[in-house]
Amino acid sequence: MTAGMGIHGLRIAIIGAGIGGLTLALALRQRGMTAAVYEQAPELTEIGAAVALSANATRELRRLGVLDGVTAASTEPSALIYRSWQDGRSIAAFPVHDGLAYQTRFGAPYCGIHRADLQHVLAGALGGSGLQLGHRLVDLAESGDGIRLEFANGQSAQADLVIGADGVRSVVRRYVTGGEDAVYSGTSAFRGIVPLSRLPSLPDPQAIQFWMGPDAHLLHYAIGGGGQDVNFFAVVEGPKAWSHTGWQAPVGHGEALAAFKGWHPAVTEMIGAVEHTVRWGLFTVRPLLHWFRGRAVLLGDAAHAMLPHHGQGANTTIEDAITLAELLATASPGRLETSLGRYQAMRRARTRKIQRSSRVTNDLLHLQDGPALADRDRRVSRFPEDFGWIHAFDALGSVTGSAPISRPAA
Ligand SMILES: Cc1cc2nc3c(=O)[nH]c(=O)nc-3n(C[C@H](O)[C@H](O)[C@H](O)COP(=O)(O)OP(=O)(O)OC[C@H]3O[C@@H](n4cnc5c(N)ncnc54)[C@H](O)[C@@H]3O)c2cc1C
Repeated sequence: MTAGMGIHGLRIAIIGAGIGGLTLALALRQRGMTAAVYEQAPELTEIGAAVALSANATRELRRLGVLDGVTAASTEPSALIYRSWQDGRSIAAFPVHDGLAYQTRFGAPYCGIHRADLQHVLAGALGGSGLQLGHRLVDLAESGDGIRLEFANGQSAQADLVIGADGVRSVVRRYVTGGEDAVYSGTSAFRGIVPLSRLPSLPDPQAIQFWMGPDAHLLHYAIGGGGQDVNFFAVVEGPKAWSHTGWQAPVGHGEALAAFKGWHPAVTEMIGAVEHTVRWGLFTVRPLLHWFRGRAVLLGDAAHAMLPHHGQGANTTIEDAITLAELLATASPGRLETSLGRYQAMRRARTRKIQRSSRVTNDLLHLQDGPALADRDRRVSRFPEDFGWIHAFDALGSVTGSAPISRPAA
């Protein structure tokens, strides 16, 4: 088997058909290159949860010609609201869709979308070309004339460049770094999707909202073309250690709800509307010094899995994909290493900064009641200003040299 054909005749293999792998395949194709995409799953069925896409990703999806498909299947939150856990007091509120505030400021929309819908739009645009399902990479080794890929199904392939878009438990990362497992963050989450009709106590149901309390927070936003469902993500401190081999650990009946005892009815209604059989461990990848080794390079969660508190895992993954595609398209013949070095330099600092900030934000969202709350409330009120740099970023512009996109907040 031979990987797809890139610029200057480069055979390109992408490992993983998640958000990163599919976006990269599309971005390469737009630039006249093809890649073989190897995905371990026998079919593309993203697990049932949602993702919030911000302007730093949606402007790239527009450039790829898929934003209309994404917006048709998604909802832009009316506002971003931070609330107190018990009485639901609004601590800070900022318009998003209201008055088209977000799009006016950042030049592209904010979308809440079911992951399966996003994957469907990306895979549909790719049209299945080059996609090899049921291919779990188990080993890779550089040989004189390229890199050899071995799959669990007994097949093998030869490539000149391998991109590890294989997520937080990346096999390619092990090859690139010689180790570096994902690290359990000490926090875990309950998640679910609930029809709005089952949430009578929820104020501002079309907003994206953070409910902040002692040792926990709940984030939710509406998804679907008509905003008819609410995706939620409830994060708690603990368990202290993660003794399970996968992401998920079984939980007893009522355990999720017990973790939010005494919270506002909007929160308990949401969590109680789902039968939770598992909790999700939240894992990160320690900032890596090297993102590539020889002919293998990392992208997305494989390189920089982060806590989801800025909602930036998928968004930064899309940025990676565009940056790498553009650098490969403009690479000089025989200068692959220079392009990979530039990619690493361009992506490492930004993703580290967001990773670090997501960790700090975890602590801010989980403060105990007490005098420190006044400072938390002040900081939360400045979030759109303090974190505008995340949303204003223009990944393609960062390669081609144009400025970030942002107008002052209204
Ligand atoms: C609960 C939760 C909520 C989140 N919410 C948000 C959000 O609102 N906004 C946001 O931006 N991000 C969010 N994220 C983060 C986001 O989901 C990830 O950062 C993003 O999916 C990373 O994309 P990826 O393509 O790198 O990896 P993935 O989407 O994980 O894709 C990896 C792919 O590689 C395949 N694969 C793995 N190993 C192999 C192998 N050996 N061989 C072949 N294929 C393989 C997998 O099957 C998968 O299809 C959230 C994450 C979590 C856990």
